[in-house]
Amino acid sequence: MDLYVVLGIAHGASEADIKRAYRRLARRFHPDINPGDRMAAVRFRQILEAYETLIDPERRSRYDAGLAAEQPDSPPTSGFEGFDFSVRGTDYSATFGDLFAEVLTDRGARRQPPSRGADLHQEVRLAFEEAFSGATRAVTVTRRETCRNCAGSGRTRVNAGPCLACQGAGAVRSVRGHMVFTRSCSTCGGTGQQRPRPCEPCGGIGQLTRSETIPVQIPPGTNDGERIRVPGKGNAGVNGGPPGDLYITARVAPHPLFRREGDDMHLVLPIAIHEAALGARVEVPTPDGGAARLRVPPGTQSGQRFRLRERGAASTRDGRRGDLIIEARLMLPKVLDERSKELLREFGRINGENVREPVGAGQNAATSAPRERGGAPDTEGRR
Ligand SMILES: [Zn+2]
Ligand SMILES: [Zn+2]
Repeated sequence: MDLYVVLGIAHGASEADIKRAYRRLARRFHPDINPGDRMAAVRFRQILEAYETLIDPERRSRYDAGLAAEQPDSPPTSGFEGFDFSVRGTDYSATFGDLFAEVLTDRGARRQPPSRGADLHQEVRLAFEEAFSGATRAVTVTRRETCRNCAGSGRTRVNAGPCLACQGAGAVRSVRGHMVFTRSCSTCGGTGQQRPRPCEPCGGIGQLTRSETIPVQIPPGTNDGERIRVPGKGNAGVNGGPPGDLYITARVAPHPLFRREGDDMHLVLPIAIHEAALGARVEVPTPDGGAARLRVPPGTQSGQRFRLRERGAASTRDGRRGDLIIEARLMLPKVLDERSKELLREFGRINGENVREPVGAGQNAATSAPRERGGAPDTEGRR
């Protein structure tokens, strides 16, 4: 393999020719421009080898000498014969990185199409009242945002001018013992010109990870598990792409009294037996922290439901409110005094109706003629 052929240049090519040829080929075969293409990767390595050898005057003259000696008969068996690998060491990676950066500098901005930033997801814990009435909550989110220093390019802007490391020569000399080595300048990649350096604040990535506290509007009626979208507050886009969105999942604390079902709220309301029997006007708490008056009609049964229109939760879709559904629960009084007991016995005698008729059972003797205190075998299991 002839290194001049690899770069497509004549044997007498100048340093400028070599650099020009390298840049032209690197733009075509660089692995970053051809992701996943193994042939391009192999080709690029050959191009890089050829460039590094020919751009270094010392290595080039050694290579030329070897080439001339070999030329007459045996063609080279392996592509990399005639190279001097020993002079590389740590310089190689530095040079490689710089060349890589050079290609990215020239093509980086157009290399990838713009892509949208990723969406972010976060949970927020809300008190029942906050979710019911709506609130503004400060949510701290860690997101990637475009670096302001380099506006997302990942590179600092530099003035055109000669490379400061090599004074524009494109090569540097170093002395080891009695030997003087000349190698391609790693600062400028042998171009002799200043190049953009990676942006310092973002390390050349073009984005920074930052924590930001964002005021998030919790709409009234937000339900447990509901997601709130905050547009544009996901990760920043790449190469000018739009940012993603932030999704806040609401975790609403349960209320000790109210239970939500859709946009309706449910309340179990204890009612005294005299209120249920005779009817009453009672005050009931409402989910917004206020109160409403409920008319309990005479003869209300335990489990009976009443509906207060539009006293439930607001729909986060259209703002329409659900209902407050109140379920009556009859509470037996704690009968302790003799007078109340006598009144209840009296009540039982006057209202002799069989409440178990619907289930086909008759009046129980123990019920119609209640005993004073326990000890009777037939009361067992009823308490
Ligand atoms: Zn930056
Ligand atoms: Zn330089």
